[in-house]
Amino acid sequence: MLLRASSAVFGALLLAIFGCSEAKRPGTPPKNLILITVDTLRADHLSSWLYGRPTSFVPTNEEERGKGIALAIDDLAGAGVMFRNAFTPRGQTTPAIASLMTGRSPLEHGVLKNGNVLAEDASTLAERFQDAGFATAGFTSNALLVAPSGLGQGFDVFENFDGEDRDVKVVTGAMKWLGTQDRDEGPPLFLWIHLMGPHLPYAAPSMLVGGAELNFGTMFTDPDYAGAANGSRDFLDDAYLNHKPLNGLDVNEIVAQYDGEVARINHIVRTFLQLYSGVYEATPAHRLDDTAIVFAADHGEELYEHSGYWAHSKSVYSSVLHVPLILHHPGSLTGRRVVDELVTLEDVMPTLLDWFRIAPQSRISGRSLLPLVDTYEALEFESRPAMSAWRNRIFSVRADVDGGSWRLVWNPENLQPEENPPGDYNIPELALFDVSADPKEQRNVANDYPELAKRLQAAIAEWLQNQDLAAAAATSAELDAALAGLGYLEIGDE
Ligand SMILES: [Zn+2]
Repeated sequence: MLLRASSAVFGALLLAIFGCSEAKRPGTPPKNLILITVDTLRADHLSSWLYGRPTSFVPTNEEERGKGIALAIDDLAGAGVMFRNAFTPRGQTTPAIASLMTGRSPLEHGVLKNGNVLAEDASTLAERFQDAGFATAGFTSNALLVAPSGLGQGFDVFENFDGEDRDVKVVTGAMKWLGTQDRDEGPPLFLWIHLMGPHLPYAAPSMLVGGAELNFGTMFTDPDYAGAANGSRDFLDDAYLNHKPLNGLDVNEIVAQYDGEVARINHIVRTFLQLYSGVYEATPAHRLDDTAIVFAADHGEELYEHSGYWAHSKSVYSSVLHVPLILHHPGSLTGRRVVDELVTLEDVMPTLLDWFRIAPQSRISGRSLLPLVDTYEALEFESRPAMSAWRNRIFSVRADVDGGSWRLVWNPENLQPEENPPGDYNIPELALFDVSADPKEQRNVANDYPELAKRLQAAIAEWLQNQDLAAAAATSAELDAALAGLGYLEIGDE
């Protein structure tokens, strides 16, 4: 048996995470916390991550900036702290969000795939904030993020929205809940919204923005494109399953549709933050001054980069594992603006507990990122590789070693991931990619660097040995029924 449980590192980890002295920490935490997660959002398709299309940019002038309405994703990245190299432990919604909420890997919290339930005894971010006196609420538009998934633990209010314009419904639901809170005299707030926008199908509807109708569906497409390719599930599943050839113009059309979804979600995020901030009220409230914003994604999207596959659940590559991560509260995060260190979604919970001075209640395998964002160089942060896995069977590590950036994929049983849609997804038994020279991870150079490949395999084995493995992951007939009720009989590939 390759895997074995160990909790010997628990104490050392807690010390490492919470041992920093008060005096060395960044400034006083703000009163409130907003966590925004976007489904299926590739970091490298955001303009703040230097993508070639202005997907997350909205032009503003000085006057608008002064009014506090410059709140597009690129503005958050510019004024906040941008973690350029953040990774998810698994390219699928429920395991990834469970890791963000518990600070633990999927192998440790036991949610290895969509449909597994986060155990009742898990200690979650929302529970810790609730215990600390925060009013807590979660609003989601992915049918998997419902209370029976176990991810509603710790939320006073937890609502899921579906149907047309479900992301707009999330924002409306969140604003309604905020309307019930006394934001001056009442308890501090922890609000989570999860938006579905860039998830399949890629077909962004137009939307009114500032009185003008913006057509996101054609924002980045080529008006001269004459082919039949489109971003519907039917078209993409058929092309993938039946190995139908797509040319460069077809791929460009589909990716442009995905990018339109990203641009649309950027406007929804911006509008939500403007409404939250109160900049349009008779007396602008500028409520972001007392609110920390965390922006992240659960995973990215393959977009035809491996095995002709478009979605995410099968992938063990950076296209899916590399996610955006931004912390925004310029009033207290006054140090570094851009962090290149490898970090993971498991680091989000310990970072927020550390920042808001809330004690953890159980073992956390992520670590606080505050030592990376302040200006106190005395604080130590130990670099380590970013580990991901397909369930507990195929492993993928992103590591910065010997001045280079690498990804190693290790598929010891030569498995094919079995999520929907069916179709070949070949993962080599061992593959090494030089990420700097080959960011899309297309050229396996394992034979050129055998020693390095061995070192990274050993790092995976050591990581596995240190995992405090969860009991067999639970499944729930209740969850299946809830999904069926929401019109989601297929829970394989959300
Ligand atoms: Zn997802």
